[in-house]
Amino acid sequence: MASHRCRKDPCGFICLILTYLSVIYADYVIIQYVLIPFWFSFHGVVFNLILVLLLACHFKAVFSDPGMVPLPEAAIDFSDLRSQSSRNNDRGSCEGWTLCNRCETYRPPRAHHCRVCQRCVRRMDHHCPWINNCVGELNQKYFIQFLFYTGLSSLYCIALVVVTWVWRFRGERERGGESETAASKHFIIAHYIILLAESILFGVFVMVIFYDQLVSIISDETPIEQVRNRLMKDKGASRPHPRKPTLALLREVFGRGSMLCWLLPLHSSPPMAGGIIYSALPDYDV
Ligand SMILES: [Zn+2]
Ligand SMILES: [Zn+2]
Repeated sequence: MASHRCRKDPCGFICLILTYLSVIYADYVIIQYVLIPFWFSFHGVVFNLILVLLLACHFKAVFSDPGMVPLPEAAIDFSDLRSQSSRNNDRGSCEGWTLCNRCETYRPPRAHHCRVCQRCVRRMDHHCPWINNCVGELNQKYFIQFLFYTGLSSLYCIALVVVTWVWRFRGERERGGESETAASKHFIIAHYIILLAESILFGVFVMVIFYDQLVSIISDETPIEQVRNRLMKDKGASRPHPRKPTLALLREVFGRGSMLCWLLPLHSSPPMAGGIIYSALPDYDV
């Protein structure tokens, strides 16, 4: 399983802990110092609903199989192929299938090897330490949903903190005095500043990645493929590839169901009609 292998990555483990601590801290400050003093019960429900969806999408992105190419049950003898094309082992393909020397298996078109997971992943986008897993064909939807809800909750936090801050201290001025001690006032302001910094930092970060993900889907090129295609273009060896409609490309990632389901971390139909069958290797003569 992907998640079992990736849990060994210390960077991924630290990022997971940091993610959960950031969510818990944001909820604590919003409930304790923003909503309760002003009885914004509606915002409390909406904010916590967004956090529940954020955590559910994160959980699915972390623990779902990103689309790992299964390893063969028996070792395959690649010696002939290696001797024939030791340099072109990533390109010596038959209908787009390639050979991975590290996994010692055949992989379908658009699959790439992840050095952290030590496995090939179908339509691999990148390895993300924040989910301690690869982003690939089967979990990209959950990853993008996680980015969306993180961005949304960050914006919500910023708006709630700024409005409460202004309201709180304008009210004090109108009442003509301080309702709290200086120490507690400074303590609350410190929480507001930390939460604002956290929200701006994570908000900007996830929005940039969210944008990149959408561009990568719409252009039908993962970042790995973008680099490879650019290199091939420079060498004059690029092949034009048929352009699919944008909606079809989005449905490949988010599923064929209602667009409302695109916002929920629900399992959707396989992105490719009929999926890829791995029970048999391609018809290679090895
Ligand atoms: Zn591999
Ligand atoms: Zn990986």
